[in-house]
Amino acid sequence: MASVNTSDLYHELKRAVRDLCRNFPDAYWRSLDAERAYPETFVQALTQAGYMATLIPEEYGGAGLGVTEAAVILEEIHRSGGNAAACHAQMYIMGTLLRHGSEEQKRKYLPGIAAGKVRLQAFAVTEPTTGSDTTRVKTLATRVGNRYIVKGQKIWISRAEHSDLMLLVARTMPLEQVTKRTEGLSVLLVNLKDAAGHGLTIRPIRTMMNHATTEVFFDDVEVPVENLIGEEGRGFRYLLDGLNAERILIASECIGDGRWFLERACRYATERVVFGRPIGQNQGVQFPLARAYANVEAAALMVARAAQLFDSHQPCGPQANMAKLLAADASWESANAAVQTHGGFGFAEEYDVERKFRETRLYQVAPVSTNLILAYIAEHVLGLPRSY
Ligand SMILES: Cc1cc2nc3c(=O)[nH]c(=O)nc-3n(C[C@H](O)[C@H](O)[C@H](O)COP(=O)(O)OP(=O)(O)OC[C@H]3O[C@@H](n4cnc5c(N)ncnc54)[C@H](O)[C@@H]3O)c2cc1C
Repeated sequence: MASVNTSDLYHELKRAVRDLCRNFPDAYWRSLDAERAYPETFVQALTQAGYMATLIPEEYGGAGLGVTEAAVILEEIHRSGGNAAACHAQMYIMGTLLRHGSEEQKRKYLPGIAAGKVRLQAFAVTEPTTGSDTTRVKTLATRVGNRYIVKGQKIWISRAEHSDLMLLVARTMPLEQVTKRTEGLSVLLVNLKDAAGHGLTIRPIRTMMNHATTEVFFDDVEVPVENLIGEEGRGFRYLLDGLNAERILIASECIGDGRWFLERACRYATERVVFGRPIGQNQGVQFPLARAYANVEAAALMVARAAQLFDSHQPCGPQANMAKLLAADASWESANAAVQTHGGFGFAEEYDVERKFRETRLYQVAPVSTNLILAYIAEHVLGLPRSY
């Protein structure tokens, strides 16, 4: 892959992902959705094709590509009607280990992940009582000799049942003992297989869409000190570093969703005849689709810009946040327009519009809610006073 030029790579990658996704048609995702089952075969196919190792450098067995290419992969999965939420975290979680992990940690874990033998796709930040206010997380990792003893609870931890490793954000110093609330947080790599039955309990949460999310309880779970990523107490900074990649990649999924909704809606609007003509001949049907299309394409430009900045190691906080905001809004607008265009059939499972509608709704809330992005832009870009 590394030998071809950027534009060839872009088209080749798009085509290859689309070909892979053809083996996982609407009916595949629909039946998993009905059963709330994990798309194991799809994740395996993606892993075997090397896509899950996109961001892992070649020296550790990965493809050594950037967020731009990872975004193309995720967008195409969503554009094909699938859902990459089952595995996308492996792409952006990797960044924390890559940027802040020790050479020893990278050599220990990355080749196995690149080869598809080990999965690192759970990322545990959110807690039931702290919500978006991450610095108030209460899960405590207390150092005792050469181990941390972890006590606490996390919620909405996706894919924990389908991962071998989890990146955990915990306090290594309680909030009351730090001078700045961003201090005292640390990132630990938890081996979920070792911890299962030794203080770790995972409980699935059934949600409005198929997402394999869970509650995780830590009751004196032991984590070896060598699993600390970077320096103790500096975890908040490592967390912020990874968020830009996460926002860009989730935004690319929204672009894929938006394009899928519009393609399906336009097809239906052309075929469906009411009052003796295709419904798509009515401007009342055309205009919401045209507006949504313009917004999806504008958002796609912001996603590409943010990815380009990220890959060239330039600051991209504003662009990554705006990409996520605009793309999530555009996919939600497209979803609404697609349901409206389909009339009653927008609600029928066999058309898949209602499934994708439920799936894309998530991105107004997770991984960061729209209000929190607006607050970021207001404070950090426009220089307005901090509101919280
Ligand atoms: C399906 C799913 C999967 C998830 N996967 C993961 C995961 O793998 N790992 C993980 O760590 N987390 C995960 N999350 C958690 C997700 O990141 C949070 O739900 C999200 O960040 C919002 O936090 P909250 O739910 O606690 O909402 P809250 O923080 O309680 O906010 C509730 C509402 O109030 C608004 N609000 C709060 N404060 C302000 C303010 N100051 N100004 C304006 N509005 C405000 C928010 O915008 C939101 O609309 C997942 C969530 C879901 C639903």
